[in-house]
Amino acid sequence: MKSITRRSALVLGGAAAGWAAARTFNSDLPVLDGTTRLDQPPTGTVMNDASGLSSTPIHKHLVLSENADDALIAAIRKELAEAASANRAFNVGAARHSMGGQAIPRDGTAVTFDNGTVEIDSASQSYRVHAGARWSQVIAALDPNGWSPTVMQSNNDFGVAATFSVNAHGWPVPYGPMGATVRSLRMILPSGDLVTCSPEQNADLFNMAMGGYGLVGVILDLEVGMVSNARLVPTFETMAASAFPAAFQAAIEEPAVTMAYGRLNVERASFFEQALLITYRQTDDQTALPPASGSGWMSHVASRLYRTQLGNETMKSFRWWNETTLGPAIGDGEVTRNSLINEPVVTLDDRNPDRTDILHEYFVSFDAFDAFLTACRDVIPASYQEFLNVTLRYVAQDDQSDLSYATTPRIAAVMSFSQEMTERAEADMRRMTEALIERIAQDGGAYYLPYRPHARLDQLARIYPGAANFTANKRELDPQLILRSNLWDSYLEQL
Ligand SMILES: Cc1cc2nc3c(=O)[nH]c(=O)nc-3n(C[C@H](O)[C@H](O)[C@H](O)COP(=O)(O)OP(=O)(O)OC[C@H]3O[C@@H](n4cnc5c(N)ncnc54)[C@H](O)[C@@H]3O)c2cc1C
Repeated sequence: MKSITRRSALVLGGAAAGWAAARTFNSDLPVLDGTTRLDQPPTGTVMNDASGLSSTPIHKHLVLSENADDALIAAIRKELAEAASANRAFNVGAARHSMGGQAIPRDGTAVTFDNGTVEIDSASQSYRVHAGARWSQVIAALDPNGWSPTVMQSNNDFGVAATFSVNAHGWPVPYGPMGATVRSLRMILPSGDLVTCSPEQNADLFNMAMGGYGLVGVILDLEVGMVSNARLVPTFETMAASAFPAAFQAAIEEPAVTMAYGRLNVERASFFEQALLITYRQTDDQTALPPASGSGWMSHVASRLYRTQLGNETMKSFRWWNETTLGPAIGDGEVTRNSLINEPVVTLDDRNPDRTDILHEYFVSFDAFDAFLTACRDVIPASYQEFLNVTLRYVAQDDQSDLSYATTPRIAAVMSFSQEMTERAEADMRRMTEALIERIAQDGGAYYLPYRPHARLDQLARIYPGAANFTANKRELDPQLILRSNLWDSYLEQL
């Protein structure tokens, strides 16, 4: 019997938010996760993801390091053909931080790319990047040349094609999801055909793959837009939670504001009553920008405080005071855009292998924010889950992706819970998630697909009205259903 305990925690310094993921898994089989570098492990391997709750048997896990050219194309075609002839699933993943097996092919071939090639084209303000490159590698390439990713998630550990495939958003404003910053990409279809897609060329495939969770094709490389790096300075504003949408909207409309996010207080007694808005504007001096660093010392203090909140209302209040009062008074001050987004998933030992941190995310329109607050107050404190954090982001309308979660401009609420790794806690989390989704959907809101597979099928179908069409098109493109993951097996296949 092999037992692996793995804990990873993320603390978002620049966005003053934190997440953590703990995994404990016991199995007779060897255990892999997204960071494991194993070539051709024996059959009977189990793969897990950041939740630690998705252990799934796979056939094999390949790490491919070739550049995105002929050798990689040949390798992918060979593996796709082999999977097709054996009637096995095939999936490419990156950091496997999606939390519901969205990057795990049951009994199939799992591929991870290990190649961080980035080629900058300053004239067109874009870069060509290997699909498997992590954002830390992108920032390392762009920063010395004065450039910065236009949109990426709040953490730098994730893969670029993975970001496109979930159509992730970040907190630079006033942008929509990352897919809108991709100018073109090359992808191998389940048939083995190599296609170039962009908003102009094979646009149907482009829009299907954007937020298509790897079910459309294997992305090889992408051409992505970039912006200038900049020196920024933050301002902090505390307000009643109900006042947040108007203040946020005003901030987004102010041209000087280039990064913005919010937070809500999480103490049970006054849950979601207060909001904090943090905005970043360019300073007058944009000369001699320092190299991108990671998080500042305030973020490290915040990360320690984050853990102490578990089951401790006093510490939740202290953390809120720290971030609304002490932090702004003595905070980090000026910082570059690249340093703010160059935040890694930090490993912390929380000395508790029995818990895992689970993310939820909801997208609500500005005028539905009050109803969202009420729904959260009704549903979340009544559960057994420990609520640790929420950050609020802006997501501009996305009319491109077939599975768009932002059919109007949205406030994104990224929530972090600490969950016991028990069946009881899992059942409670499922019940609470279903209830929250139901309430938020009543006002036109959406939930995000990369997290735990706790939504009901009818909820997914209602909230993502393009899903049935997506599934029909996928069946045409991939009649043998080679590209599969738990998102397909548990949901889309049944539409
Ligand atoms: C700590 C944390 C912070 C987060 N912050 C944010 C945030 O700020 N904003 C946000 O929007 N989301 C956020 N997320 C969600 C995150 O964006 C997704 O979970 C994302 O999938 C993580 O990237 P990854 O490299 O782990 O992807 P994986 O889980 O490895 O893959 C995700 C999907 O992409 C597909 N894929 C990967 N590579 C390819 C390829 N080459 N070709 C085709 N398909 C491919 C996979 O099949 C899978 O369906 C966060 C998640 C965590 C755990």
